[in-house]
Amino acid sequence: MARRKKIYEGKAKVLYEGPEPGTLVQYFKDDATAGNGAKKATIDGKGVLNNRLSEFFMTGLQGIGVPTHFIKRLNMREQLIRQVEIIPLEVIVRNYAAGSMAKRLGMEEGTQLPRPIVEFSYKNDALGDPLVPEEYVVTFGWASQQDLDDIVSIALRVNDFMSGVMHGVGIRLIDFKIEIGRIWDNDYHRLVVADEISPDSCRLWDIETGQKLDKDVFRRDLGSLTDAYTEVARRLGVLPSNVTHRPNKPTLIN
Ligand code: UDP
Repeated sequence: MARRKKIYEGKAKVLYEGPEPGTLVQYFKDDATAGNGAKKATIDGKGVLNNRLSEFFMTGLQGIGVPTHFIKRLNMREQLIRQVEIIPLEVIVRNYAAGSMAKRLGMEEGTQLPRPIVEFSYKNDALGDPLVPEEYVVTFGWASQQDLDDIVSIALRVNDFMSGVMHGVGIRLIDFKIEIGRIWDNDYHRLVVADEISPDSCRLWDIETGQKLDKDVFRRDLGSLTDAYTEVARRLGVLPSNVTHRPNKPTLIN
């Protein structure tokens, strides 16, 4: 069988050349990392769950008119996506204080913010993805002022969508990270949501109990990450039929 050309391998995903120009195949690995790669593990079934969950969120976003790179899911671990030029920013939206923000400002995790905050980290592993002011983004040419305005508006639309969907299944969206890509059409480009949206890149707390259902379970050793992601998928009705990490436990098939 002809081997596909690998374009890029990241911590949790691999990108391969797609079947047509302008497309890529995005493969979800079971690898988990935290603390910029300091902590590593392979977690059975994570890639399958994130492939499904990212498909669910990206399709939902497209349904309300937010453009994304997603074309279609190909199989358990792969999806076909549009090739984009990734803007080197982690776009973070926060509704409640947690993680690095809670630490930086000495706030208790879970404190509701007066309004959603959009912030940017410069994507650079060697520097540990430092938080940067908006002014840096334009000054260093990572995005134009127009792009920046559009990115903020996309991020807030994603936040409203994700908060609403999660609220509907009893989950509080604390914060999340998205990445934005450019798709070029001659001299013009448009911005789309790229990368993935999954419990790897969100903080999700059960509204009733406060239980964490996201990657903090792995970062902070709070139990089984697969169980947490499976619970999110189950509530959203997107549980894949053949996740086999707990063969002795019956699995809901939709
Ligand atoms: N996040 C991410 N990738 C990163 C850094 C952060 O997906 O490289 C997500 C993280 O899961 C959380 C949000 O962005 O939902 C805010 O993360 P924070 O800045 O609090 O960083 P952390 O505490 O994870 O280091």
